Amino acid sequence: EAALAEAPPKPILQLVGVRKTFGSFAAVENIDLDVREGEFLTIVGPSGSGKTTLLRMLAGMDTPSEGNITLHGELINDVPPNKRPTCLVFQSLALFPHKSVGENIAFPLKVKGVDAAARKARALELMRIVRLPESYHDKNVMKCSGGERQRVALARALAYDPEVLFFDEPLSAIDYKLKKTLEKELKDLHRETGKTFIYITHSLEEAMVMSDRIGVMRAGRLVQVGTPEEIYGAPVDRFVCEFVGEVNTIKVKRGPNGLWSGVDVPGSFHVAPPQNGAAPDEAFVVVRPEFMRFLGPGESADNRLEGTVYNEYSLGSRIQYQVRVEAKGGEKVMLVELSRARALAPGADPHVTLGWDAADAFTLES
Ligand code: ATP
Repeated sequence: EAALAEAPPKPILQLVGVRKTFGSFAAVENIDLDVREGEFLTIVGPSGSGKTTLLRMLAGMDTPSEGNITLHGELINDVPPNKRPTCLVFQSLALFPHKSVGENIAFPLKVKGVDAAARKARALELMRIVRLPESYHDKNVMKCSGGERQRVALARALAYDPEVLFFDEPLSAIDYKLKKTLEKELKDLHRETGKTFIYITHSLEEAMVMSDRIGVMRAGRLVQVGTPEEIYGAPVDRFVCEFVGEVNTIKVKRGPNGLWSGVDVPGSFHVAPPQNGAAPDEAFVVVRPEFMRFLGPGESADNRLEGTVYNEYSLGSRIQYQVRVEAKGGEKVMLVELSRARALAPGADPHVTLGWDAADAFTLES
């Protein structure tokens, strides 16, 4: 029973060795991925890393040059978009400008030959799900705000009743506050509908808020797939580590008594071994800024470094400090992030002792 409970849900979409080339250039390379039924999976990566190319193959707008894509175990490499139980929610919403909100949403039902009364009932139901007021049913879609049109597009996508919804950067052109609202709503919508969502963005913040799992792409390859916690707390390499947030890194080599000695920053450090079980002689210790603190007199930590605060930035509820520490060939900047409640007092001595515990850092092979 325990084994059953722990078994991951069966894949709805499966990619094996998927590759896409344009001429001699491989935009997507050797992708193996199981998309689980009902999950919210986000693909993130820098511009040009192959996210859109991957999505186009999943949606059927492109065919892999090599490898297989299966849906419920059936090969769909060459199945066109309209023959797949999937729907792409466009960023530049292809809504019908002269039609009402209700007509836009009900369009897929009209195509299927659903009668007018049933169409209206379903449109109103979908409007409730995407939180559009009922009074908008007859409103011209062009008189809606950008955010409202996003909801109309979503409701229309849901009207197709697809098994998988694809989102290609739907929130990239929306102001911050609305974006934060829509992120949470999209997550709620995912939960309410129980459908599989595959979402593409270059914004890691978006990915972190919404996703069950995140896949990180780099130069056409999927370098890590995991929960937001795994991606943030146990990145497989420095690329993922630095892509997902700010970091302090210190290069270290094995020293005596289980300690490690700094290569770039002088000192000896307590370092947790790499999570992949490797036992390298050299490694990078990575400490996220929010796991660094300033040590007061008598306070202890596994590791400490003397430094000088030379800059501080408000991040809203938190403050980030830039701290110079002594390093080979000059100085190195370390970042410390504290909640506002724990901020340094104005005019405090800029000479500080940084502290962090080994368990709050992680180690990557160099
Ligand atoms: P962005 O975040 O900027 O949208 P992306 O991660 O979605 O980037 P893709 O659009 O998938 O990246 O592009 C991956 C690479 O493949 C890029 O170098 C791009 O120039 C190239 N590419 C994509 N489509 C084509 C095409 N039709 N012909 C030639 N090269 C292409």
